[in-house]
Amino acid sequence: MKITRIETIHVREFPVTWVQIYTDAGFAGLGETWFGPRAVAGAVHELFSPMLIGRNPLEIERHWRDMFDMANAFGYAGAESRAISAIDTALWDIAGQAAKQPIYNLLGGPCRDRIRVYNTCAQYGKNNDTELAFLDAGTLASSLLDEGITILKWAFTDHYADLSRGVYLSDQDLELMQEPMRQIRKAVGNQMAIANDGHGRWNLQNAIRIGRAMDQFGMFWQEELIEPTNVENHVTLAHEVEAPICVSERLVSKYQFREYLRAGAAEVVMPDLIWTGGITETKKIGVMAEAEQAPVAPHDCTGPVNVFACAHICMNAPNTMVMETVRAFYKPGGFYDRLVEPNIVVKDGFLLAPEGPGLGTRLKAEVRERPDVIIETSDTPGGYHWSLTSQFEVVNEGGKRFVRKKSRRLIAAPDTARGHFGPPPR
Ligand SMILES: [Mg+2]
Repeated sequence: MKITRIETIHVREFPVTWVQIYTDAGFAGLGETWFGPRAVAGAVHELFSPMLIGRNPLEIERHWRDMFDMANAFGYAGAESRAISAIDTALWDIAGQAAKQPIYNLLGGPCRDRIRVYNTCAQYGKNNDTELAFLDAGTLASSLLDEGITILKWAFTDHYADLSRGVYLSDQDLELMQEPMRQIRKAVGNQMAIANDGHGRWNLQNAIRIGRAMDQFGMFWQEELIEPTNVENHVTLAHEVEAPICVSERLVSKYQFREYLRAGAAEVVMPDLIWTGGITETKKIGVMAEAEQAPVAPHDCTGPVNVFACAHICMNAPNTMVMETVRAFYKPGGFYDRLVEPNIVVKDGFLLAPEGPGLGTRLKAEVRERPDVIIETSDTPGGYHWSLTSQFEVVNEGGKRFVRKKSRRLIAAPDTARGHFGPPPR
């Protein structure tokens, strides 16, 4: 089996990029990433498509390593890592389709029957969960409990951090930011677990004050109270705050998670599958967390394909704690229904395992027909790249060992990508 064509698909309504990888066996694999679609499409078509076209899509580990090594010639985190994540997911989708198995069976099979979810209280359309989180959190908690959801998360402190870039926090504001937790405890007692996401906006001193103050509510976790750019400060935070410290979606690859895990700074491990390196890398991060006896809770609040990909990790990983989902996105009136079929299914507070071979979902055909769609295609293999193999080679000929220059050309770059703006030609 060979990869014949790689597409990036972006709709202007969302900062999403889908990658579709086509094969000569008729399989089409789907992957997704979120943010910076033009940069991601550039990385897919300029760097990785010329390398992958013509290769066997089932050699996922080899492709991941080659893509990472090429990107890491100049620093891997960013659009390159997001592109790798989407490509890797699409390759796993092909592998699952070829094996006629859901991806979680290829990862080692399920460790559970369904996946506990929490609700991140983003809002969309007529859903007003964000407003409720700030203004009437008791009502929000009750409505989630009505659906069987027993854990909620929101970024309860962003607007206080905005006042001083997280450097100054008055006692009055520290008290005020806990009002939603008081409302939740008053309305539903301890039936609802509460997680807080600081979005990395605070300095260490205020992060400790916030974490300690909120400890009275038995927080489910404290996520990114400070930016994950300093392992030692996270260790301090973990010692000072009772709630588990969650780190988190902006750590890219096993190498960045390794630092936090080794230091004991990641009490809850939250990889973002579509940023950190796809299914291949998220599986490994989960295993590293397992070795440290830490739970895994994959990140979401992005597109629907991410939830499907994470569902396979969550079904498989023995240390899965909970999966992030956003009811404003997946329920009727959200946007997932307009993009994929089937949609994810959340029932009684649990995400059901994807069904069928591969990822278990597809982009809806009408996505390609949208007036705001941008589809770019690569279908030409390139040569080698200096970061993967040298321009010279060591050879044995006639009993003699010597060095000679290779004759192959450098990897072909932008001219291999052909942009189709608007619906593709029929
Ligand atoms: Mg977060």
